[in-house]
Amino acid sequence: MKSLFNASPASGRLRLAALWLAAAIFVGVAVSCCGQSPVMHVYSVSDPAEEKLLRTPCEDFTPRELRSRRVARLAKRMIATVTDSTQNGVGIAAPQVGVSKRLIVVCRLDMEGEPFIPYINARIDSCFGGIVTGREGCLSIPDLRGNVPRYESIVVSYWDPDTGERRSETVSGYTARIFQHETDHLEGILYTDRTSDIYPE
Ligand SMILES: [Zn+2]
Repeated sequence: MKSLFNASPASGRLRLAALWLAAAIFVGVAVSCCGQSPVMHVYSVSDPAEEKLLRTPCEDFTPRELRSRRVARLAKRMIATVTDSTQNGVGIAAPQVGVSKRLIVVCRLDMEGEPFIPYINARIDSCFGGIVTGREGCLSIPDLRGNVPRYESIVVSYWDPDTGERRSETVSGYTARIFQHETDHLEGILYTDRTSDIYPE
């Protein structure tokens, strides 16, 4: 009977290589499933390197990236981050977790159950309904709040993963404010650029 010991040196090396490959795949799977915390570090303006990224306009996901699982994985981690008890936000944009791509997560206060929904390659196409000033904070600007003028209503468009097409939606009220705040992040704009009425939390 053949064993590892009497096999030829060539087939022994082959088996060793196969074992290493299996071990490497196992370690890779283990790291991707369990080693990565879903909650991400939130970039802050108090760190100059992080502020630089927050100030950088974001790019669309490419068609190739849209076909990958990367976008869904990132959206899931962004939802875990914004809903984490240490953050407790109502929205987050990809640059806030260090990714210069057009992805935002918005808490739909205007929907039943107030779900957090990701919007891919999001853009505001038009604004209407007059200007309303309201209170805002930002996960990337600790300890401050501001009264910020925003449009009452917006039309937002984004890439829909279910159809693979772009779709658009009209949103009003505080949810429209969240969309405007988060899409501003995608242009490198922070709420503190839009008001001088800023005060400690
Ligand atoms: Zn923000």
